[in-house]
Amino acid sequence: MDLRLPNLANDTVLNVAQLLKQPVGATRTFQIHLQRLTLDEGQWARDVEANIRLTRFEAGILVDGEVAGVANVQCVRCLNEFDQPYRSVFDGEFRPSVDVRTGVPMAAPEDDDVFIIDHNHELDLAPLLRQVIILALPMRPVCGEQCAGFQPEFPAAEDEVDDRFAVLRTLLDEGTE
Ligand SMILES: [Zn+2]
Repeated sequence: MDLRLPNLANDTVLNVAQLLKQPVGATRTFQIHLQRLTLDEGQWARDVEANIRLTRFEAGILVDGEVAGVANVQCVRCLNEFDQPYRSVFDGEFRPSVDVRTGVPMAAPEDDDVFIIDHNHELDLAPLLRQVIILALPMRPVCGEQCAGFQPEFPAAEDEVDDRFAVLRTLLDEGTE
């Protein structure tokens, strides 16, 4: 059974007790909008928009979807901060910490990639979204072609080649004299 849930605004936590009682294959879909999500110290994703689907599977809940927005990043050349848009499809696995019917604690998953649904059956999407957005950002962001920080002491590869040709040319010239 697929059920459309109310959209989440500026909240990443939802109670999944009902879905955990559903048979394997049951899904819930909704959208999420966050004005701001902290990624790291001094770094935030803004205007986070995500389409989310939750699917009940044997061991817990699979989350998949698509997320887009902008995040502040630092240019590796000029060190100025700028807004970097991102878009990513993702999925993640959440496991309950207690059995929803009996209240009996469940064994913690051994897999580090698995997220935990807390003992109140609340699933927090923030750690998954944070991970996905950080991975979607470039490793070495550059602010643009107009970047002012193009330092002469770090010449582009072409310039290095030109320099070598210049030396070769000098040598050749000397040889012909
Ligand atoms: Zn720059």
